[in-house]
Amino acid sequence: MSKNILVPIDISEIELTQQVIPHVETYARQDDATIHFLAVIPDYTYFASYRLGYASVPPDAKEREVAAMEALSEIVAKFSLPEDRIEKYVLCGPPKDHILQLADDIHADVIILASHRPSISTYLLGSNAAVVVRHAKCSVLVVR
Ligand code: ADP
Repeated sequence: MSKNILVPIDISEIELTQQVIPHVETYARQDDATIHFLAVIPDYTYFASYRLGYASVPPDAKEREVAAMEALSEIVAKFSLPEDRIEKYVLCGPPKDHILQLADDIHADVIILASHRPSISTYLLGSNAAVVVRHAKCSVLVVR
């Protein structure tokens, strides 16, 4: 059976993506793997409503999804992968929860992610990466 690789992408961190590209390409060559790219738009609604007191669903949510899909597509284009083995997803909410849920849904064999933002060097493992490593039911490759 062909493999499923989940690659969560923080679209605001181009450098992080550069690190994972060679690893994803190597894994993708095995077993005709399908590569599932996921970008999660963090939900800032709480903070927005806290400060400004407006409705729970911001009116530009759809636009943000479209923009995020465009940004994700640009990033995915940097990977040398066969077009027909790529899937892309944009979801809105807590990144770690969506990463774990999608891993289950697609029966991921491995999740490949970068450890943390280079700018926050104090932590060896970022907040999303840490939860994914701890709770994922499949293997997780943390790229450093
Ligand atoms: P930090 O806390 O330093 O930002 P994270 O744990 O958030 O570190 O990021 C590590 C990895 O988690 C990223 O390389 C990416 O794979 C994944 N990730 C983080 N945020 C998102 C997001 N919004 N959407 C998809 N994946 C994400």
